[in-house]
Amino acid sequence: MMQCCDLLLTAACILTQDAEHTIWQNGALAITAGRIADLGPAEDLRARWQAKTVVDGSSMLVLPGLVNAHTHAAMTILRGLADDMPLISWLTQRIFPVEAGLNPEEVRLGSLLGFAEMLRTGTTACVDMYIHEAQVLEAAHTAGIRCLAGEGVFGFPSAACPSYRQALDITRDLAARWAGHDRLRVAVNPHSVYTTSPDMLLACRDLAEELHLPVHIHLAESPDETARSLEQHGVRPVEHARACGLLDLPCTAAHVVDVTDEEIALLARKRVVAVHNPSSNMKLASGILPLARMQAAALSLALGTDGAASNNQLNMFTEMGRAALLHKIAQNDPTAASAACVLDMATRHGAAAMHDARLGQLTVGGPADLTALDLTAPNMQPLYHPVSHAVYAATGHEVRLTMVAGEILYQDGRFTRFDYPALLQELRAVRSAVLRRAGTAH
Ligand SMILES: [Zn+2]
Repeated sequence: MMQCCDLLLTAACILTQDAEHTIWQNGALAITAGRIADLGPAEDLRARWQAKTVVDGSSMLVLPGLVNAHTHAAMTILRGLADDMPLISWLTQRIFPVEAGLNPEEVRLGSLLGFAEMLRTGTTACVDMYIHEAQVLEAAHTAGIRCLAGEGVFGFPSAACPSYRQALDITRDLAARWAGHDRLRVAVNPHSVYTTSPDMLLACRDLAEELHLPVHIHLAESPDETARSLEQHGVRPVEHARACGLLDLPCTAAHVVDVTDEEIALLARKRVVAVHNPSSNMKLASGILPLARMQAAALSLALGTDGAASNNQLNMFTEMGRAALLHKIAQNDPTAASAACVLDMATRHGAAAMHDARLGQLTVGGPADLTALDLTAPNMQPLYHPVSHAVYAATGHEVRLTMVAGEILYQDGRFTRFDYPALLQELRAVRSAVLRRAGTAH
């Protein structure tokens, strides 16, 4: 007997990224009420399901929506403003002065642009940290993307908050505002150990504990950060985060480049999810994440783009390719960071960074968060190994369709939830304002 579903999506190939890494050739997904109701050979599903809408993906590669596990979506408005500088002077001389004047509307528009780029390149969920984060969540709500976000906590006044206490109050308000929302969740976001005091980190821990929120922090990003931590706190960054209790909570730690074996073992024991940001690390010459040592310690590893000022893309397909290539040359070993390992980081393990085990895989009963790539693109032919294509051949611009919870948010050049040409118009004024603040004549 035929059952009814909202949407039937066929595919030349489906990478489920489930526990067995099942791959279906000539497959299909039946989707209803935002979830995957059935998954398997297209022939069987057509016989079982009567769909309100059928999407013909017979020339497409379908995979779970990618998870961008560390980003600053609104920093798209700083894309290309200042490149080719060291991390600390890049932050303090070029980025922080412009950010000091940012207003909520600029952050909302920049975030919407960031989410457009992510959806356009197959990302369906992200972990975000910035200022005016209420506007980031509003933009995520508009775009329909999943987002784990919270106000950045700094030891100095930000454009949004004169004090860290206010940043924590905003986080508390955001947690109440979005409580129970399926796509939007809130985390406590201390920026880093070198931009906060121990009192602030303890306050972050207390709030996260009280409201049962995860923590998201930049941690051990570079040898410079380690030197600053030793100077300011007398200990290295991971030890400082541990002493302030941050590692006892569900914790997503971005970068994690300059770490010892003991620190890796501690992070693995505490079930911290480390987020690899290869493009940002390479661009800022922050160092190379010790992948082999982390894998040996079974540390959970996700993948993120970081912000558009230090990448300069929010494209998880290019990020996957760079991650795979970086570790091969770093370890002088072509078997390092295999395509399968990197795709896991961008999907299944990204779910851990979001603290949402439902994500990063296509399974019956799970959310219908997925993306579909055009296999007729010249760079996607011929097809022997779909995982290889997803990591090494795809650029992200083969994406034909991206959906979250069964809702198509991007399809064939069009965003379904907002007017992209109108957004581009509004961003012109933002560019002018940024240039004025940067004091740069372009
Ligand atoms: Zn970052």
